Amino acid sequence: MIEFKNVSKLYKEKAALRNINMTIECGEFFVLVGTSGSGKTTTLKMINRLLTPTEGTVSINGVDVQQSELRELRLNIGYVLQSGALFPNLTVCENIEIIPEMKGWPKEERVKTVHSYLEMVGLDPEQYMNRYPHELSGGEQQRVGILRAIVTRPSILLMDEPFSALDPISRNQLQELIKRLHDTFKMTIVFVTHDMAEAVKLGTRICVMSKGEIVQLDTLQVIKEHPAHEVVKRFFYEG
Ligand code: ADP
Ligand code: MG
Repeated sequence: MIEFKNVSKLYKEKAALRNINMTIECGEFFVLVGTSGSGKTTTLKMINRLLTPTEGTVSINGVDVQQSELRELRLNIGYVLQSGALFPNLTVCENIEIIPEMKGWPKEERVKTVHSYLEMVGLDPEQYMNRYPHELSGGEQQRVGILRAIVTRPSILLMDEPFSALDPISRNQLQELIKRLHDTFKMTIVFVTHDMAEAVKLGTRICVMSKGEIVQLDTLQVIKEHPAHEVVKRFFYEG
């Protein structure tokens, strides 16, 4: 369970986030949606402590992340970014092995695991293991980025607009893939997007943000039937 209590983030005088209160349950596919600048990335980065709240606390299973051991915290939280996050000088296998290696898995086990995970996302291991990121399409790179983040089975996966740079067909495929992985592994996913259609497709609950505040947080059905605010209505019907 991830809990935000009275969380604000100020940059000089300006508030990037204002008094965020929310609880994300274990195993949820939780989507943060809002226009650019609404505070989604700031919210996400507080969970793995890339940013520190100016006020309030973020806790995971009752422990304030500021009090947790940073290495442990980060090793148990996968993180997937929009693009370009793979190490360009490492092969696909080496990129996916990074965290298993840090955790001390023997080489043989690492290679075997990478093999089976590549198969799981539809990349033929023989063909892809030894390629470099520039030899992959955008969609393939994101598949590898996702595998790198989940290969040690973290209980939380943070995703910041992971499919925004992809063409519509790849985006669709990756949306299906992440839904399947969530069904299989049942990790908690916190997923950021500016695309309401994507939020609707993926989220078990959706948190609509605007200007650093939560304007509505609920299941899709409730948000659709009872948009709490003009902002939500507009977002739905105008995209
Ligand atoms: P989103 O991810 O929804 O596009 P962000 O969380 O990145 O939004 O940013 C929220 C607000 O905080 C924006 O107005 C942004 O300009 C501001 N902001 C983000 N990072 C900084 C920073 N390092 N210094 C000053 N302002 C920032
Ligand atoms: Mg952002």
